[in-house]
Amino acid sequence: MNWFQGFENCVRQNVSLASMTTYKVGGPAEFFAEPEDVETLGALLRRACTERIDVRLLGHGTNLLVADAGVPGLVIRLPKSGFAKAENDGLRVRIGAGHSLPGLVKWSVSKGMSGLECLQGVPGTVGAALRMNAGGKHGEIGTRVRRVNGFEKDGSPFSFNVRDCGFVYRNSALGSRIVMDCEMELEAGDFERSKQTLTDILSEKCRTQPMNARSAGCVFKNPKILGVPPAGRLIDEMGLKSARVGGAFVSAKHANFLVCENGATARDLVELIRLIRTRALNERGVKLELEVEAWGFPAGALNAVA
Ligand SMILES: Cc1cc2nc3c(=O)[nH]c(=O)nc-3n(C[C@H](O)[C@H](O)[C@H](O)COP(=O)(O)OP(=O)(O)OC[C@H]3O[C@@H](n4cnc5c(N)ncnc54)[C@H](O)[C@@H]3O)c2cc1C
Repeated sequence: MNWFQGFENCVRQNVSLASMTTYKVGGPAEFFAEPEDVETLGALLRRACTERIDVRLLGHGTNLLVADAGVPGLVIRLPKSGFAKAENDGLRVRIGAGHSLPGLVKWSVSKGMSGLECLQGVPGTVGAALRMNAGGKHGEIGTRVRRVNGFEKDGSPFSFNVRDCGFVYRNSALGSRIVMDCEMELEAGDFERSKQTLTDILSEKCRTQPMNARSAGCVFKNPKILGVPPAGRLIDEMGLKSARVGGAFVSAKHANFLVCENGATARDLVELIRLIRTRALNERGVKLELEVEAWGFPAGALNAVA
Protein backbone atom coordinates (compact mmCIF):
# COMPACT_ATOMS: atom_id res chain seq x y z
CA MET A 1 0.00 0.00 0.00
CA ASN A 2 1.27 3.51 -0.85
CA TRP A 3 1.95 5.80 2.11
CA PHE A 4 -0.14 8.46 0.31
CA GLN A 5 -3.33 6.45 -0.09
CA GLY A 6 -6.26 8.89 -0.10
CA PHE A 7 -4.04 11.70 -1.50
CA GLU A 8 -3.67 10.21 -4.99
CA ASN A 9 -5.17 13.28 -6.64
CA CYS A 10 -2.45 15.58 -5.28
CA VAL A 11 0.66 13.35 -4.89
CA ARG A 12 2.71 12.26 -7.92
CA GLN A 13 5.87 10.16 -8.08
CA ASN A 14 9.24 10.82 -9.69
CA VAL A 15 8.55 14.41 -10.79
CA SER A 16 11.40 16.36 -12.38
CA LEU A 17 12.27 19.53 -10.46
CA ALA A 18 14.71 21.06 -12.96
CA SER A 19 12.08 23.18 -14.72
CA MET A 20 10.81 24.39 -11.33
CA THR A 21 14.12 26.03 -10.40
CA THR A 22 15.94 28.96 -11.97
CA TYR A 23 19.21 26.98 -12.34
CA LYS A 24 17.16 24.46 -14.37
CA VAL A 25 19.36 21.56 -13.29
CA GLY A 26 18.84 18.60 -10.98
CA GLY A 27 16.81 15.43 -10.79
CA PRO A 28 13.33 14.44 -9.66
CA ALA A 29 11.46 14.54 -6.39
CA GLU A 30 10.58 11.04 -5.21
CA PHE A 31 7.11 12.37 -4.37
CA PHE A 32 5.65 15.74 -5.36
CA ALA A 33 2.39 17.29 -4.17
CA GLU A 34 0.33 20.40 -4.73
CA PRO A 35 -2.39 20.24 -2.04
CA GLU A 36 -5.41 22.28 -3.04
CA ASP A 37 -6.21 23.82 0.35
CA VAL A 38 -5.05 24.24 3.93
CA GLU A 39 -6.98 21.20 5.20
CA THR A 40 -5.39 18.90 2.60
CA LEU A 41 -1.94 20.33 3.34
CA GLY A 42 -2.35 19.72 7.08
CA ALA A 43 -3.63 16.18 6.55
CA LEU A 44 -0.80 15.41 4.08
CA LEU A 45 1.83 16.67 6.53
CA ARG A 46 0.38 14.55 9.32
CA ARG A 47 0.40 11.46 7.08
CA ALA A 48 3.98 12.10 5.92
CA CYS A 49 5.06 12.53 9.54
CA THR A 50 3.40 9.27 10.63
CA GLU A 51 4.96 7.45 7.69
CA ARG A 52 8.38 9.10 8.31
CA ILE A 53 8.54 10.69 4.88
CA ASP A 54 10.89 13.70 4.65
CA VAL A 55 9.07 16.87 3.59
CA ARG A 56 10.49 19.93 1.79
CA LEU A 57 8.70 23.04 0.60
CA LEU A 58 9.34 24.37 -2.89
CA GLY A 59 8.59 27.98 -3.77
CA HIS A 60 9.64 29.32 -7.17
CA GLY A 61 13.01 27.55 -6.95
CA THR A 62 15.01 30.79 -7.21
CA ASN A 63 17.33 29.92 -4.33
CA LEU A 64 17.71 26.18 -4.85
CA LEU A 65 20.34 23.76 -6.10
CA VAL A 66 18.84 20.29 -6.58
CA ALA A 67 21.19 17.28 -6.91
CA ASP A 68 21.33 15.48 -10.27
CA ALA A 69 20.19 12.32 -8.47
CA GLY A 70 17.09 14.13 -7.21
CA VAL A 71 15.54 14.39 -3.77
CA PRO A 72 14.19 11.59 -1.61
CA GLY A 73 10.88 12.11 0.17
CA LEU A 74 8.06 14.55 -0.51
CA VAL A 75 8.38 17.98 -2.12
CA ILE A 76 5.34 20.21 -1.64
CA ARG A 77 4.53 23.27 -3.73
CA LEU A 78 1.69 25.54 -2.62
CA PRO A 79 -0.60 26.24 -5.58
CA LYS A 80 -1.60 29.86 -6.16
CA SER A 81 -5.30 29.00 -6.07
CA GLY A 82 -5.42 28.09 -2.36
CA PHE A 83 -2.37 29.86 -0.95
CA ALA A 84 -1.81 33.24 -2.58
CA LYS A 85 -4.50 35.54 -1.24
CA ALA A 86 -3.62 39.20 -0.65
CA GLU A 87 -5.90 41.38 1.47
CA ASN A 88 -5.55 44.52 3.53
CA ASP A 89 -7.36 46.35 6.25
CA GLY A 90 -5.88 49.83 6.01
CA LEU A 91 -2.14 49.37 6.34
CA ARG A 92 -2.43 45.87 7.82
CA VAL A 93 -1.76 43.32 5.11
CA ARG A 94 -2.41 39.58 5.13
CA ILE A 95 -0.68 37.64 2.39
CA GLY A 96 -0.52 33.95 1.43
CA ALA A 97 2.85 32.16 1.33
CA GLY A 98 2.35 31.11 -2.29
CA HIS A 99 2.00 34.73 -3.46
CA SER A 100 4.87 35.96 -5.59
CA LEU A 101 7.11 38.45 -3.77
CA PRO A 102 7.46 40.78 -6.80
CA GLY A 103 3.64 40.62 -7.10
CA LEU A 104 3.26 41.63 -3.43
CA VAL A 105 5.64 44.56 -3.87
CA LYS A 106 3.68 45.83 -6.91
CA TRP A 107 0.31 45.24 -5.23
CA SER A 108 1.28 47.14 -2.06
CA VAL A 109 2.56 50.12 -4.05
CA SER A 110 -0.55 50.15 -6.27
CA LYS A 111 -2.66 50.35 -3.08
CA GLY A 112 -0.74 53.41 -1.89
CA MET A 113 1.26 51.53 0.72
CA SER A 114 4.98 51.83 1.33
CA GLY A 115 7.56 49.66 3.08
CA LEU A 116 8.18 46.78 0.67
CA GLU A 117 9.88 48.70 -2.15
CA CYS A 118 13.23 47.51 -0.73
CA LEU A 119 12.35 44.01 -1.98
CA GLN A 120 12.14 45.09 -5.60
CA GLY A 121 14.00 42.64 -7.86
CA VAL A 122 13.90 39.74 -5.37
CA PRO A 123 12.15 36.86 -7.16
CA GLY A 124 10.31 33.97 -5.48
CA THR A 125 7.41 33.46 -3.09
CA VAL A 126 6.41 35.20 0.11
CA GLY A 127 6.79 31.94 2.11
CA ALA A 128 10.43 31.45 1.14
CA ALA A 129 11.20 35.16 1.56
CA LEU A 130 10.02 34.89 5.17
CA ARG A 131 12.00 31.76 5.88
CA MET A 132 15.20 33.30 4.42
CA ASN A 133 14.44 36.87 5.55
CA ALA A 134 14.98 37.92 1.93
CA GLY A 135 16.31 41.37 1.20
CA GLY A 136 19.49 43.25 0.57
CA LYS A 137 21.12 46.60 1.11
CA HIS A 138 17.78 48.43 0.82
CA GLY A 139 16.05 46.40 3.56
CA GLU A 140 14.63 43.01 4.52
CA ILE A 141 11.15 41.51 4.62
CA GLY A 142 11.37 40.73 8.36
CA THR A 143 11.18 44.38 9.39
CA ARG A 144 7.58 44.64 8.11
CA VAL A 145 6.26 41.37 9.55
CA ARG A 146 3.91 41.26 12.54
CA ARG A 147 2.88 37.58 12.53
CA VAL A 148 3.61 34.39 10.57
CA ASN A 149 1.21 31.43 10.51
CA GLY A 150 1.67 27.90 9.26
CA PHE A 151 2.31 24.29 10.12
CA GLU A 152 4.99 22.49 12.05
CA LYS A 153 6.42 19.58 10.05
CA ASP A 154 4.10 17.19 11.91
CA GLY A 155 1.04 19.09 10.64
CA SER A 156 0.21 20.92 13.87
CA PRO A 157 -0.41 24.66 13.45
CA PHE A 158 1.90 27.44 14.68
CA SER A 159 1.46 31.20 14.89
CA PHE A 160 4.57 33.27 15.60
CA ASN A 161 4.78 36.95 16.45
CA VAL A 162 7.71 38.81 14.96
CA ARG A 163 9.98 38.14 17.96
CA ASP A 164 9.41 34.35 17.66
CA CYS A 165 10.36 34.56 13.97
CA GLY A 166 13.96 35.51 14.88
CA PHE A 167 14.72 37.32 11.64
CA VAL A 168 18.46 37.78 11.06
CA TYR A 169 20.66 38.28 7.99
CA ARG A 170 19.31 35.80 5.36
CA ASN A 171 17.82 33.51 8.01
CA SER A 172 15.05 33.16 10.59
CA ALA A 173 13.90 30.90 13.38
CA LEU A 174 11.17 29.50 11.10
CA GLY A 175 13.51 26.60 10.31
CA SER A 176 11.75 23.71 8.60
CA ARG A 177 8.27 24.97 9.46
CA ILE A 178 5.80 25.42 6.62
CA VAL A 179 4.70 29.03 6.20
CA MET A 180 1.07 29.51 5.15
CA ASP A 181 0.58 33.24 5.42
CA CYS A 182 1.76 36.32 7.24
CA GLU A 183 0.53 39.65 8.53
CA MET A 184 2.47 42.81 7.84
CA GLU A 185 2.19 46.43 8.88
CA LEU A 186 3.02 48.92 6.12
CA GLU A 187 3.01 52.72 5.95
CA ALA A 188 0.98 55.19 3.98
CA GLY A 189 2.96 55.85 0.82
CA ASP A 190 3.21 58.23 -2.09
CA PHE A 191 2.45 56.24 -5.24
CA GLU A 192 4.70 58.27 -7.57
CA ARG A 193 7.62 58.26 -5.15
CA SER A 194 7.31 54.51 -4.52
CA LYS A 195 7.11 53.84 -8.26
CA GLN A 196 10.29 55.83 -8.79
CA THR A 197 12.03 53.85 -6.02
CA LEU A 198 11.04 50.59 -7.75
CA THR A 199 12.42 51.84 -11.06
CA ASP A 200 15.67 53.02 -9.45
CA ILE A 201 16.32 49.78 -7.54
CA LEU A 202 15.55 47.61 -10.57
CA SER A 203 17.78 49.58 -12.91
CA GLU A 204 20.61 49.44 -10.35
CA LYS A 205 20.17 45.65 -10.06
CA CYS A 206 20.05 45.18 -13.84
CA ARG A 207 23.27 47.18 -14.13
CA THR A 208 25.13 45.18 -11.49
CA GLN A 209 23.58 41.67 -11.51
CA PRO A 210 22.81 39.11 -14.24
CA MET A 211 19.07 39.36 -13.52
CA ASN A 212 17.88 37.31 -16.49
CA ALA A 213 20.50 34.56 -16.43
CA ARG A 214 19.94 31.03 -15.12
CA SER A 215 21.10 31.72 -11.55
CA ALA A 216 19.86 31.47 -7.98
CA GLY A 217 21.01 34.94 -6.98
CA CYS A 218 23.89 35.19 -4.51
CA VAL A 219 25.35 31.77 -3.76
CA PHE A 220 27.30 32.77 -0.64
CA LYS A 221 26.38 34.91 2.35
CA ASN A 222 28.55 37.96 2.83
CA PRO A 223 31.11 37.14 5.54
CA LYS A 224 30.50 39.30 8.60
CA ILE A 225 34.20 39.53 9.43
CA LEU A 226 35.98 42.84 9.92
CA GLY A 227 38.18 43.61 6.92
CA VAL A 228 36.71 40.86 4.69
CA PRO A 229 34.87 42.20 1.62
CA PRO A 230 31.42 40.99 0.51
CA ALA A 231 31.50 37.51 -1.09
CA GLY A 232 31.23 38.83 -4.68
CA ARG A 233 34.21 41.14 -4.25
CA LEU A 234 36.21 38.42 -2.47
CA ILE A 235 35.64 36.00 -5.39
CA ASP A 236 36.56 38.74 -7.84
CA GLU A 237 39.74 39.57 -5.88
CA MET A 238 40.78 35.88 -6.05
CA GLY A 239 40.63 36.12 -9.85
CA LEU A 240 37.65 33.78 -10.14
CA LYS A 241 35.32 36.02 -12.15
CA SER A 242 34.28 33.99 -15.22
CA ALA A 243 35.82 30.78 -13.76
CA ARG A 244 34.01 27.78 -15.19
CA VAL A 245 33.29 24.10 -14.55
CA GLY A 246 31.44 22.40 -17.39
CA GLY A 247 28.30 24.43 -18.12
CA ALA A 248 28.45 26.50 -14.92
CA PHE A 249 30.43 29.70 -14.57
CA VAL A 250 30.97 32.70 -12.31
CA SER A 251 29.09 35.72 -13.66
CA ALA A 252 31.34 38.44 -15.05
CA LYS A 253 28.76 41.00 -13.87
CA HIS A 254 28.57 39.87 -10.22
CA ALA A 255 30.95 37.21 -8.95
CA ASN A 256 28.57 35.95 -6.23
CA PHE A 257 26.16 34.78 -8.98
CA LEU A 258 26.88 31.38 -10.56
CA VAL A 259 25.21 30.95 -13.91
CA CYS A 260 24.20 27.86 -15.89
CA GLU A 261 24.18 27.48 -19.63
CA ASN A 262 22.69 24.65 -21.69
CA GLY A 263 24.16 21.29 -20.71
CA ALA A 264 25.06 22.39 -17.16
CA THR A 265 24.54 19.90 -14.35
CA ALA A 266 24.19 20.23 -10.61
CA ARG A 267 27.57 18.49 -10.41
CA ASP A 268 29.16 21.40 -12.36
CA LEU A 269 27.73 23.89 -9.87
CA VAL A 270 28.90 21.80 -6.94
CA GLU A 271 32.46 21.65 -8.29
CA LEU A 272 32.47 25.41 -8.88
CA ILE A 273 31.17 26.07 -5.36
CA ARG A 274 33.83 23.78 -3.88
CA LEU A 275 36.56 25.47 -5.91
CA ILE A 276 35.49 28.92 -4.67
CA ARG A 277 35.16 27.77 -1.05
CA THR A 278 38.54 26.03 -1.14
CA ARG A 279 40.31 29.07 -2.59
CA ALA A 280 38.61 31.42 -0.09
CA LEU A 281 39.70 29.20 2.80
CA ASN A 282 43.26 28.60 1.62
CA GLU A 283 44.03 32.06 0.29
CA ARG A 284 42.00 34.30 2.59
CA GLY A 285 41.17 32.16 5.60
CA VAL A 286 37.45 32.73 4.99
CA LYS A 287 34.81 30.03 5.39
CA LEU A 288 32.15 31.04 2.85
CA GLU A 289 28.66 30.09 4.03
CA LEU A 290 26.02 29.07 1.50
CA GLU A 291 23.05 31.37 0.92
CA VAL A 292 21.63 29.06 -1.73
CA GLU A 293 19.80 25.94 -0.47
CA ALA A 294 21.15 22.56 -1.59
CA TRP A 295 18.78 19.58 -1.78
CA GLY A 296 19.67 15.91 -2.14
CA PHE A 297 23.43 16.06 -1.51
CA PRO A 298 25.34 13.95 1.01
CA ALA A 299 26.60 15.93 4.03
CA GLY A 300 29.74 17.88 3.18
CA ALA A 301 29.37 17.44 -0.59
CA LEU A 302 29.61 21.21 -1.16
CA ASN A 303 32.36 21.88 1.37
CA ALA A 304 35.83 23.19 0.66
CA VAL A 305 38.35 20.48 -0.13
CA ALA A 306 40.44 19.85 3.00
C1 LIG B 1 18.16 36.94 -10.14
C2 LIG B 1 17.99 36.66 -8.66
C3 LIG B 1 18.14 37.70 -7.75
C4 LIG B 1 17.99 37.46 -6.38
N1 LIG B 1 18.15 38.50 -5.52
C5 LIG B 1 17.94 38.30 -4.20
C6 LIG B 1 18.05 39.38 -3.28
O1 LIG B 1 18.32 40.53 -3.64
N2 LIG B 1 17.83 39.12 -1.97
C7 LIG B 1 17.52 37.86 -1.50
O2 LIG B 1 17.30 37.69 -0.30
N3 LIG B 1 17.43 36.83 -2.35
C8 LIG B 1 17.63 37.01 -3.68
N4 LIG B 1 17.53 35.94 -4.54
C9 LIG B 1 17.29 34.60 -4.00
C10 LIG B 1 15.79 34.23 -3.94
O3 LIG B 1 15.04 35.03 -4.79
C11 LIG B 1 15.22 34.36 -2.52
O4 LIG B 1 15.95 33.56 -1.61
C12 LIG B 1 13.75 33.95 -2.47
O5 LIG B 1 13.21 34.28 -1.22
C13 LIG B 1 13.52 32.47 -2.76
O6 LIG B 1 12.14 32.28 -3.02
P1 LIG B 1 11.59 30.97 -3.73
O7 LIG B 1 10.11 30.97 -3.62
O8 LIG B 1 12.13 30.86 -5.08
O9 LIG B 1 12.17 29.85 -2.77
P2 LIG B 1 12.83 28.39 -3.14
O10 LIG B 1 14.07 28.65 -3.87
O11 LIG B 1 11.78 27.60 -3.83
O12 LIG B 1 13.09 27.85 -1.71
C14 LIG B 1 14.04 28.47 -0.87
C15 LIG B 1 13.85 27.97 0.57
O13 LIG B 1 12.60 28.43 1.07
C16 LIG B 1 11.85 27.31 1.56
N5 LIG B 1 10.42 27.56 1.36
C17 LIG B 1 9.76 27.77 0.20
N6 LIG B 1 8.45 28.00 0.43
C18 LIG B 1 8.28 27.89 1.78
C19 LIG B 1 7.15 27.98 2.66
N7 LIG B 1 5.92 28.24 2.22
N8 LIG B 1 7.36 27.79 3.98
C20 LIG B 1 8.60 27.52 4.46
N9 LIG B 1 9.70 27.42 3.70
C21 LIG B 1 9.54 27.62 2.37
C22 LIG B 1 12.34 26.13 0.75
O14 LIG B 1 12.09 24.92 1.42
C23 LIG B 1 13.81 26.44 0.66
O15 LIG B 1 14.43 26.05 1.86
C24 LIG B 1 17.68 36.14 -5.92
C25 LIG B 1 17.52 35.12 -6.84
C26 LIG B 1 17.67 35.35 -8.21
C27 LIG B 1 17.48 34.24 -9.18
